[in-house]
Amino acid sequence: MSGIGADYEIKKYATDVLVVGGVIGVLAAAIRAREGGADVIVLEKANTARSGNASSGIDHIQSFIPELHGRVGYTEDDMISDQIASGGDLRSLMRADLIRDFVRRSAKDVISLEQYGLRFRFDDSLLPGGFRIVPQFHSLPTSYHFEGRDIKRAMTNRALGLGVAILNRAHVCELLKDGDAATGAIAIGTRDDAITVVNAKTTILATSGVITRLSHNPTGAFNFELFETPGTGTGSGKVLAAKAGAEVVNLEFFGLGTSYTWLNYSFTVGLPGGSWWPAGRITDEGGNIIVPRSKAFSPDDPKYKTNYRKESERLGAGRGEIVRLLLQGRSLYFDLQEATDEEIAYILWALGHEGKTGVLKRYFEKNAVNLKTARFPLRLSGKSSPFYPGIWVKGTTTETSVRNLYATGNEIGGIGPPLPVAGYALVFGFGTGACASVRAKDAAPPKDVSGPYAEALKNRIADLHANAASGSGENWRDAEWALQALVDNVISKVYTETAVSQAGQMLAQLRESLRLSAGGPHERFRAFEVYELFDLAALLIASIFERKTSIGSFRRLDEEKFESENEGDSIGVFFEKGRIQASRLSNMLRSDAEAE
Ligand SMILES: Cc1cc2nc3c(=O)[nH]c(=O)nc-3n(C[C@H](O)[C@H](O)[C@H](O)COP(=O)(O)OP(=O)(O)OC[C@H]3O[C@@H](n4cnc5c(N)ncnc54)[C@H](O)[C@@H]3O)c2cc1C
Repeated sequence: MSGIGADYEIKKYATDVLVVGGVIGVLAAAIRAREGGADVIVLEKANTARSGNASSGIDHIQSFIPELHGRVGYTEDDMISDQIASGGDLRSLMRADLIRDFVRRSAKDVISLEQYGLRFRFDDSLLPGGFRIVPQFHSLPTSYHFEGRDIKRAMTNRALGLGVAILNRAHVCELLKDGDAATGAIAIGTRDDAITVVNAKTTILATSGVITRLSHNPTGAFNFELFETPGTGTGSGKVLAAKAGAEVVNLEFFGLGTSYTWLNYSFTVGLPGGSWWPAGRITDEGGNIIVPRSKAFSPDDPKYKTNYRKESERLGAGRGEIVRLLLQGRSLYFDLQEATDEEIAYILWALGHEGKTGVLKRYFEKNAVNLKTARFPLRLSGKSSPFYPGIWVKGTTTETSVRNLYATGNEIGGIGPPLPVAGYALVFGFGTGACASVRAKDAAPPKDVSGPYAEALKNRIADLHANAASGSGENWRDAEWALQALVDNVISKVYTETAVSQAGQMLAQLRESLRLSAGGPHERFRAFEVYELFDLAALLIASIFERKTSIGSFRRLDEEKFESENEGDSIGVFFEKGRIQASRLSNMLRSDAEAE
């Protein structure tokens, strides 16, 4: 059998900046760090050109847009308060300092993608700057379309062109630490028997915000399709950070919400009036209109700002009404019967650029579906809707509480829905890359402390292989399934102290009885992912335990006290000498308000 015990080849590298993960946040960080003169290595478990959330492309992105917003009287401060307000009754957990930083840098950073050959301006635009902002057809005034299907490939090419070393197919298992500082990472090959060690002056984690493999739900807040594709978010970066001693926040808001499905796609946001469906409307079985189609408004209209707010509220209320009626058992339909030909052409363009919706577009073409006349039935579905968890960062440098360890992209905690999107990943990525490269300039090369880490890793691998050889262990898939069942049925439903303790005991029992087995590289790295999921579930339970009072959608049945929407602190959890510790972290909202 290949790769048992001491046969492992250990490849060692040294660099100024190590970036873990490989998507928008990572590539932005790598590019900016390299432009700042640093040597940069990327470790990605898949392939940076096609992996992660943006693997199959994105079609819209958010930023402040000076050309348009200046004209309609929408200010940066308006955008900052709109973004904070999107946290709803968990708004006190939103990082106002980071949101402000994002808004102020967003226009320049996002539009800079034009240099990579990605198209942002269109001849059919009705707006200053040539942007195809979503409200031309629908939705938010800060979200606009671009041809982002190949964003990852374009950014990968730019990074390679600048001399960034991209090491694909390397799953990072642990961060290296010397004293109180991060000094790099150790990874196993997902397709070979190599162990990779990177000693780095600074380390950046951009390993995805969403945690979608902790429950049976196929994906997180955005369920783009309901095929048998498993979720991709393992929460790996959060476990890596917690083990290194950095706090992970907002894990306790993992729970079930309500969304509706349409054909093979599931939406928790967006339909109607969302990214692809500007001209969509919702009708009932008798053809009565339940939610009318959206209207475009001109930037020359002096009431643009008021109109947009009204339109957003109308669509929000409409989405609530759809769920209410579906819960009553009513049949509802989505249709595009009032759409113009131009709008239908635009919708097809958008489908071709965002995520897996290209499959849907091909389905329409193959089956000659006429979008103008088709009526698509809506169905209810229960999907996880976590308030995005992430790694706590100290401020806009995005350094964590562990020295020389940064978080970026959607891995930063406290940027709640609907904000963990590509614009944030990009803007933070650029910022973090710049900060990490400046830090690396003054730092001495770290000591190579990887010896004991490599030994421990080899021992864990040897156990996996021994279990496979003796036929006594479980396959990673079965273990993941068992954990997901526990999360779905027990862990996501615990709202009293007793229930939390019981859930913790059940998780510990399952973990103790687990003997994972793996025969080759693929199964091996999957087994490591499953161990990370177990660690994450333990962190999640600790977060629930620590949040003693109710806040927003989080309800303690055994405690009367309710934290107000402006008062709640974040719960941060991390490992210290193998045990989970928790702390309360005050977010910037109140201190910002006090400062102003
Ligand atoms: C189908 C779909 C469509 C979307 N459309 C849009 C859109 O139009 N507009 C928009 O703004 N947003 C959109 N989003 C969201 C957007 O794609 C994400 O916000 C963005 O990609 C997040 O980037 P990121 O760099 O933070 O991380 P991610 O894209 O989540 O990538 C994390 C990477 O880390 C790697 N990784 C994880 N753990 C490890 C480890 N231990 N070792 C090594 N590598 C690891 C993963 O393989 C992955 O490549 C969409 C998401 C989906 C799923």
